[in-house]
Amino acid sequence: MQGSAATTAAKNRARVALVEKAPEDNAGRNTYFTPAGFRCCFDGLPDLLPFLYQSNGTKSLSDDLVKRIEMAPYTKEDFHADINRVTKGRADPVLANVLVDNSRDAIQWLVGQGAKFMLSFNRQAFNVDDKSKFWGGMVMNMIGQGKELFKLHNEWTRKTSVTIFYCSPAIELLTDDSAGDITGIKALQHGRYRRFGASGGVVLASGGFQASPALRSKYLGPGWDLCASYGCHSVAWDANSPVEEGNHTITNQYTKSGYPLGLMLNTPQGIAFQIWDAEQAKWLRIEEYADDVTQNIRTNTLDELADKLVAKGLKDKAQFLATISEYNEAVDAFSREKPHHKFDPAIRDGMSTQSQSRQIMPAKSSWATSLKTPFYRRRGHHGNYIHIRRTGRRAILGGLLWDNYPGGSGLMMGTVLGRIARKKAAARAEHVRKGSSAHQRAQL
Ligand SMILES: Cc1cc2nc3c(=O)[nH]c(=O)nc-3n(C[C@H](O)[C@H](O)[C@H](O)COP(=O)(O)OP(=O)(O)OC[C@H]3O[C@@H](n4cnc5c(N)ncnc54)[C@H](O)[C@@H]3O)c2cc1C
Repeated sequence: MQGSAATTAAKNRARVALVEKAPEDNAGRNTYFTPAGFRCCFDGLPDLLPFLYQSNGTKSLSDDLVKRIEMAPYTKEDFHADINRVTKGRADPVLANVLVDNSRDAIQWLVGQGAKFMLSFNRQAFNVDDKSKFWGGMVMNMIGQGKELFKLHNEWTRKTSVTIFYCSPAIELLTDDSAGDITGIKALQHGRYRRFGASGGVVLASGGFQASPALRSKYLGPGWDLCASYGCHSVAWDANSPVEEGNHTITNQYTKSGYPLGLMLNTPQGIAFQIWDAEQAKWLRIEEYADDVTQNIRTNTLDELADKLVAKGLKDKAQFLATISEYNEAVDAFSREKPHHKFDPAIRDGMSTQSQSRQIMPAKSSWATSLKTPFYRRRGHHGNYIHIRRTGRRAILGGLLWDNYPGGSGLMMGTVLGRIARKKAAARAEHVRKGSSAHQRAQL
């Protein structure tokens, strides 16, 4: 999100240098790999319509489509409640207010800069009873995803004459200790140190420390250095993905997020198997689970599936079958007690493994349906195996997020805070030109 920062500053007539660690063809890290979901407050679908495009880039949605969408407003209270829930109440309230209060404006600003948003039909909605039912409060993403967002950032920086220095990791902040001021940065460029003076200030937009195994283990705890890391948050990642780095072409297609609809069975070897009944598999997103995207195994019986998974690294077939059997019994017990409870993937439907007569650990509290051979179908269970690659959810910004974040608020946070920080930097630079004192600049 360096671009939104740099562009805002440059538009405020400041000279801006953007110092980037990566080479040009590998820059943009986390942002590049996102689906570019953005979370903002809005007053129902009509409020968002002016921002929206169809997935092919055509402006506005047809009346017919609009009629088939079910979407609740997402209020400031909702956004705050989500932040509090996922950060376990530890979010800095001032920063949370800044994020929430400026979120809708930020979308408007992005649209003004040429960003095109579409409704996240494939990620945040399910088609139930011929209605697209949106869930979770985050309903939009940028067309073209993170790749397009990164491209836009580059275009903005070019238009506003921001100078970008690639292959130039910043290694130190330069300070004027007598004035208590940050005066620039020291970067390493082609084996030499280079100093960049910065009278307006330095805005850090370097992502988190998730790429460093040493820092992960130091700050997150033992074992975190063993995880493979491409991004800033925990994510289930395809077991067949290359170990060393992200793939710029297919970006986040390695993400495998269909686990709420089936079962995810962990193994001590660090690989988990995702298992669905054929009936549930129809809800999976094709861009993540199509046969040419991931390795899927379909069989008619669970026993057959277990045999095939043994060839993929499953060590304990008996335990695998016993776990699923225990799960199925718990689902059946719930269905017997509440026969009218209905499966609905678009809400927390309460279809659970926990009933009066039967409980299992860990519980599945919604979308629990049994994994059994559907005799009336030729295709049976649908297995898919993934690595669970967990990474720390830390960003360079401290205080706002702890443990987790509401999806779509990472990019929003970068946009909102980037714009504020850079406006301030531009104002500070102006004060320096006018000869204001360090104390006066600090008041900005
Ligand atoms: C798979 C995945 C999907 C995600 N999906 C979403 C989503 O849909 N919506 C959402 O809001 N959030 C999402 N996130 C979170 C989101 O990616 C981050 O919140 C956001 O990208 C952080 O932006 P950033 O600019 O701080 O960091 P980055 O995008 O990682 O950019 C940091 C930049 O700083 C450079 N850099 C690092 N160190 C230095 C240094 N010392 N000197 C100079 N340059 C340096 C890096 O090379 C990089 O170009 C997702 C994350 C992942 C991993």
